[in-house]
Amino acid sequence: MEREVQRVRQAFLSGRSRSLRFRLQQLEALRRMVQEREKDILAAIAADLCKSEFNAYSQEVITVLGEIDFMLENLPEWVTAKPVKKNLLTMLDEAYIQPQPLGVVLIIGAWNYPFVLTIQPLIGAIAAGNAVIIKPSELSENTAKIVAKLLPQYLDQDLYIVINGGVEETTELLKQRFDHVFYTGNTAVGKIVMEAAAKHLTPVTLELGGKSPCYVDKDCDLDIVCRRITWGKYMNCGQTCIAPDYILCEASLQSQIVWKIKETVKEFYGENIKESPDYERIINLRHFKRILSLLEGQKIAFGGETDEATRYIAPTVLTDVDPKTKVMQEEIFGPILPIVPVKNVDEAIDFINEREKPLALYVFSHNHKLIKRMIDETSSGGVTGNDVIMHFMLNSLPFGGVGSSGMGAYHGKHSFDTFSHQRPCLLKSLKREGANKLRYPPNSQSKVDW
Ligand code: NAD
Repeated sequence: MEREVQRVRQAFLSGRSRSLRFRLQQLEALRRMVQEREKDILAAIAADLCKSEFNAYSQEVITVLGEIDFMLENLPEWVTAKPVKKNLLTMLDEAYIQPQPLGVVLIIGAWNYPFVLTIQPLIGAIAAGNAVIIKPSELSENTAKIVAKLLPQYLDQDLYIVINGGVEETTELLKQRFDHVFYTGNTAVGKIVMEAAAKHLTPVTLELGGKSPCYVDKDCDLDIVCRRITWGKYMNCGQTCIAPDYILCEASLQSQIVWKIKETVKEFYGENIKESPDYERIINLRHFKRILSLLEGQKIAFGGETDEATRYIAPTVLTDVDPKTKVMQEEIFGPILPIVPVKNVDEAIDFINEREKPLALYVFSHNHKLIKRMIDETSSGGVTGNDVIMHFMLNSLPFGGVGSSGMGAYHGKHSFDTFSHQRPCLLKSLKREGANKLRYPPNSQSKVDW
């Protein structure tokens, strides 16, 4: 590990990753890689998550291509120095902020969207002029292998390298010195990453998880609400960091919500969900068993069918869920949707505020003021009103968590900023020394004729 990191650092110190031309070339090469090897990439994602080509393309590849194009278009402007306002003492000087690369960046990816979650941060790190070590998740091993195989065929082989491995390798890697660590994964490992980084005073971006609440107000169009929730909850078999984790609503809405979600599930995935090309599987047996254990003692309104051999868990809704039970204590990260009845919006706000800050918050209502109130009186990484997931798709919005759902953010310009140092520069002239007498001792003040 030490040798590998050293090799990447030497490449960074050669200075070649810094020029705008080089960054654009590398981003173009990355785009070529995605376009020319699309079939291989989609096949790897399919092998890891049982995902259809269309879903893998629309959930991962499109985002990567869009991000590269956005960078190529805007990078020339972003890399330029930005002049700043000056004061009396610096009026005749040059003062500006120059974005500069941080150095060698470590990107640790997660398995649930294994391609986009490693490549999207990589795009930002390249755009900002860094050298990068990428550590994909070992759980999505097919995508990890294809990323390790393809990147060296298209990108500079010393500046951007892939290191594959599990906990042991990542632990070893984290002992090395980096200039930034960008981690996506669960909160417990996020703490390990931050502790390791702290030894070198290395800044971190932590893209973590949490239980993202979804409040459904009685003043809304339940047909549309339930379609949107069904889509965001069962996409990728519930293994989405910003999936609505649970629903909060008045008890009187429960049965209608259950019925409408059930109908939508039928519409989306057919009568035989197992046969649907649009419905994925749980990543491995450990997670399969963990999710099953969340069902113990719960009232299953519909769903609940499982098949261990194929790690299938049907879209499931639980009603009248007691907040003290296990399903409400940890992030579900699977196709189980608990409904927790609350009296009103005040109780929903208290419920959210009594828990860790989630990665996302969803509010459905015709009442715009109620949505604004929810936003004002709670905290979460991001918010979508009257829909789910969609704030992730708009790259002018920073994507990231707050509190235990993470720190820092990325996407679009926010990625460029995350991987850049905003260097303040003040360039003075060696002339006009007379004006400086004010600050030189002794008795600087007395030299000024007020
Ligand atoms: P994971 O098991 O793939 O772990 C993530 C990475 O951490 C992997 O590369 C893995 O090798 C490494 N790792 C695991 N244990 C480690 C250890 N002990 N020491 C050092 N490194 C270690 O993924 P996961 O954690 O199961 O991912 C799911 C979680 O990630 C969920 O909580 C989800 O909400 C969150 N997530 C967040 C985002 C986001 O953008 N905020 C995106 C996806 C997933």
